[in-house]
Amino acid sequence: MISTGIPFVDLSVQHRALRGELEAAIAEVIDASAFAGGPMVARFEEEFGAFCGSRQVIGVGSGTEALWLSLLALGIGVGDEVITVSNSFIATAEAISFASATPVFVDVDASTCTMDPTLLARAITPRTKAIIPVHLFGHPADMDSILKISRQYNIPVIEDACQGHGAKYRGRYAGTFGATGCFSFYPGKNLGSMGDAGAIVTDDAELADKLRRMRNHGQTTKYRHVNIGWNARMDGIQAAVLRVKLRHLGAWNDARRRHAAAYRLHLTGAPGILLPTAASYADPAWHLYCIRVRERDAVLQAMTDADIVCGIHYPVPIHLQEAYGALGLRRGSLPVTERLSEELLSLPLYPELTRVQLERVAKTLRKIVTHLAVQRKCV
Ligand SMILES: *Cc1c(COP(=O)(O)O)cnc(C)c1O
Repeated sequence: MISTGIPFVDLSVQHRALRGELEAAIAEVIDASAFAGGPMVARFEEEFGAFCGSRQVIGVGSGTEALWLSLLALGIGVGDEVITVSNSFIATAEAISFASATPVFVDVDASTCTMDPTLLARAITPRTKAIIPVHLFGHPADMDSILKISRQYNIPVIEDACQGHGAKYRGRYAGTFGATGCFSFYPGKNLGSMGDAGAIVTDDAELADKLRRMRNHGQTTKYRHVNIGWNARMDGIQAAVLRVKLRHLGAWNDARRRHAAAYRLHLTGAPGILLPTAASYADPAWHLYCIRVRERDAVLQAMTDADIVCGIHYPVPIHLQEAYGALGLRRGSLPVTERLSEELLSLPLYPELTRVQLERVAKTLRKIVTHLAVQRKCV
């Protein structure tokens, strides 16, 4: 029997296709015995910089470390506030907390699910030392408006581009606007390694030097430590994998864009659904395809029953997580974020998703929401 189940993400297809290349690249690292940092990492850094048009790339151990080290390198610490959003993966806030600073959340724009710049100015206090917009789901945040406030108050921007590889804001790559841009290469991201990895991009050579030292125990030359740093190096094997995959990122993102367009085509007019749209300035990387839907949990259950795996990004906003209970933020403090957490549903989306699979997802979803809409009219 052929399984008709549809996974949320399936990495096995791309790994089958690239198996030979990946094995050869990993073998090169084994032959060189350069596992922690090393020449393969340097080559990846150069190629990723060329890809996104950034002068400096610092490979690190994860996206979380990219954010954390960026904050530390900018001198953020005890008593400082960092403005960010609450509808993100928790790492955005954790990096701020691990830098001994306090996250301050502003609400998001309901149509882009990214930081609402009109709320930024009134969140700024004398303690505000950085702003971290998140290019959530691969849709770039409204950078012009955010950078305008950043310049006005002289507060640096750190971009959380962990979901934004290849996304463009007015034709320029997400991650290249702020003091630094932070990327994650967690396996399920648009560009994913075979373990954990991340990178910081910047055009500031001095900041880049500092970050290079910080990821490697503050070292300039062997056993000369000029700063207190950390071990946050990228693995040679991850760099080798990423170099192979980077060559396909453009084509993979194009496939994601085609899938997003196909979902729009097949789902337009379905009752009780709002489809994601790109803002006029945005060319999203479609890391996730998140619709807003009435009776989300019932829809999710019905999709699961139909053997289609969907996701929720994110079911509990960061400010309502137990871990951030000490901030004392109650339900109702970020109304748009909270409403999105109840309505968003992520549909299966990855480059290798087939037309047949996508059409089955759309058809099943349309049937489910139509049925629910009829029921609503009957009661
Ligand atoms: C994945 C992700 C991170 C963390 O990246 P890791 O590599 O898993 O540490 C941070 N922010 C966002 C928005 C992410 O999606």
